[in-house]
Amino acid sequence: GESYMILGPLAGAARFKDVPGLRGVRSALIQPLTSSGGVIGVLCANRTSSPLPFDESDARNFSIFAIHAVQAVLNARLMRQLSLSQAHLKESERINALGRVAASVAHDINNPLTCILGSAQMLETSKLTPEQAEDVACILEQTERCRRIVEDLLTFGRGSPPILKPEPVVALVESALRLIRWDIADGVAITREFSDTAVVMADALQIKQILINFVRNALQAVASARAPRLTLRVKPDGDMVRVEVSDNGHGFDEALRKKLFKPFFTTKAPGQGSGLGLSVCAGIAAAHGGKLEAVSRPGEGATFALLLPRVTEAG
Ligand code: ADP
Repeated sequence: GESYMILGPLAGAARFKDVPGLRGVRSALIQPLTSSGGVIGVLCANRTSSPLPFDESDARNFSIFAIHAVQAVLNARLMRQLSLSQAHLKESERINALGRVAASVAHDINNPLTCILGSAQMLETSKLTPEQAEDVACILEQTERCRRIVEDLLTFGRGSPPILKPEPVVALVESALRLIRWDIADGVAITREFSDTAVVMADALQIKQILINFVRNALQAVASARAPRLTLRVKPDGDMVRVEVSDNGHGFDEALRKKLFKPFFTTKAPGQGSGLGLSVCAGIAAAHGGKLEAVSRPGEGATFALLLPRVTEAG
């Protein structure tokens, strides 16, 4: 590109009177940095002390320097793109391998687990002392918890493709709420704000799995809140429909937000969470052509959103 020379001094120049920082400039060289027709930056050299103005040979040297600067910027960009895509590749390879291990472990645990559950249920029906009954209840509860983790592992490992049918979104939300209603403690207020009657192409079971995860996480987050509240929203968002679960729980910071959707990431005590919930959900959303979003500020609750493409009249 062409370079520009300004011969000052600028101290009295009317054009620059609002830019105090330029008052000391006696002469300047300005060189737009261009790459394939676009401007990627501007290089500017100001001479402040020497009374000698820049000349033609300075301008030539400056434009040669500018060519090197453009190369350096383009190289840096390329390097960044490369390292980004490599990081991505490694991550997806890792998740694939993890998925296979997870599925096989889950499968091997599933059989003994079913046996334990069945035996405990049999025991439950026989004559027991109160103490024994308590122990059996404990076995049932904990085995049930294991079964949930195994289910998560299986879904994570398999990533079964969704079977899509037209589903009204609000009905999916209500149905998910019904499935989890026993987990909702009495003091928790549930508010519904449904302003979209959209229909989506969805695997109802899988979408409900996402919503139940959102709600279950939200319930855990508000567990020690003073006036625990969950708000469920269905609303339009461009050509998508947005399903939100907001809570007034402990929330999270930006550093944590970046890790939320990674497999096995959890901040919960051992036994409380596998850290697979949201990563499984993100996979399901992607398989539906949608995505998940999460926003929060520490101490100010959190909002998790599921975005799904709406069914248009054109189909
Ligand atoms: P898990 O629930 O097993 O820990 P998830 O993938 O569902 O796994 O969630 C990962 C982490 O995201 C949780 O451990 C928690 O730190 C955070 N999280 C999820 N939902 C919320 C929420 N509503 N408020 C605050 N933190 C949340």
